[in-house]
Amino acid sequence: MEKLEAVKDDSSEVDALTARLDQLEQNASDDDRAALAADEERTKKLTRGIAIGVGGAILLAVLLFATHVICFHSWAVATCTEPEHCVICGQTRGEATGHKWVEPNCLTPKRCLNCGLREGEALGHDWQEATCTEPKTCTRCEKTDGKPAGHEVTDWSVSKEATCTEEGVRTGKCTRCGESIEEPIEKVAHTEGEWEVTKEPEVSLPDAVTPGSRVKKCTVCGEVLESSPFTPSAEEALAIYKAGCQSYSYEEIARNPDEYRGKSAVFTGKVIQVIEGSGSEVQLRVNVTRGDYDWDWDDTIYVSYEMPAGSARILEDDVITLYGTLYGTISYESVLGATITLPAVIAEVVEY
Ligand SMILES: [Zn+2]
Ligand SMILES: [Zn+2]
Ligand SMILES: [Zn+2]
Ligand SMILES: [Zn+2]
Ligand SMILES: [Zn+2]
Repeated sequence: MEKLEAVKDDSSEVDALTARLDQLEQNASDDDRAALAADEERTKKLTRGIAIGVGGAILLAVLLFATHVICFHSWAVATCTEPEHCVICGQTRGEATGHKWVEPNCLTPKRCLNCGLREGEALGHDWQEATCTEPKTCTRCEKTDGKPAGHEVTDWSVSKEATCTEEGVRTGKCTRCGESIEEPIEKVAHTEGEWEVTKEPEVSLPDAVTPGSRVKKCTVCGEVLESSPFTPSAEEALAIYKAGCQSYSYEEIARNPDEYRGKSAVFTGKVIQVIEGSGSEVQLRVNVTRGDYDWDWDDTIYVSYEMPAGSARILEDDVITLYGTLYGTISYESVLGATITLPAVIAEVVEY
């Protein structure tokens, strides 16, 4: 209770203090406000003054720059005809560099290396005529045109004749430059010879021909110039066939007929019998061994012959030469009933 009383006393004391403070503050504010207002007024005036000053300065600077009274120059380099100059204010300094001339040549006139300006005309080539070994040439730039003229030799002497296998050589002096010239002479053509048979055609029968081969050679050097298969004409084939037919004695073929079967043979003999068949085939009996007299023929062979169309008939007692293929033997029965065996020939060619 006593404590509460004490607190109450304190609180009333605080209230009193607060009221006094408020009073003091009130008094002070009145004086300060007046002073503060005066200060503000002064500051405003000062600020306005500064603003006017700064603005004026800027304006002045802009004016000076704009009229180029003041310029931070930006220099453009000098050219052949213009000195260095400021791209802002146009002020110049130093001098133009002047053209840097390059002398004219055959194709280009005098020109400035810096600005490309040209003056006058190109010189054009200074041609020197072609010589034996050099073409037409410009003495200035060495450009050439066409070909060398080549040496001119009117009198040649042959130091080595050309053959069909080797070039020759001829020499002479150039009438223009006097040089000694040696020149090859082209090979001459081969000398064509006649056809030579290198492989004979094979003629097993007049119409069964296997071609051979043949060549044409150079008669000088022997080189083969042309080659071709060799197919004989019908006439040649027949001659070859006939030449290939061997002459046999009756004795040989009658004794060992099978040994000679298939071989080409030639016989001359006298026809003793002709049997004409229905077609063009004839069968002959021919005596092929001649005796001491013209009429005396002996040793009979059997001949089968397919006569070519339009042939004249073969008659008994004709003396014929026949070419054909040995065919072993043939047997037949005689009118008297005996078996007769004769050497047989299939004739290909019969001459009578
Ligand atoms: Zn400038
Ligand atoms: Zn120039
Ligand atoms: Zn030239
Ligand atoms: Zn010459
Ligand atoms: Zn030759």
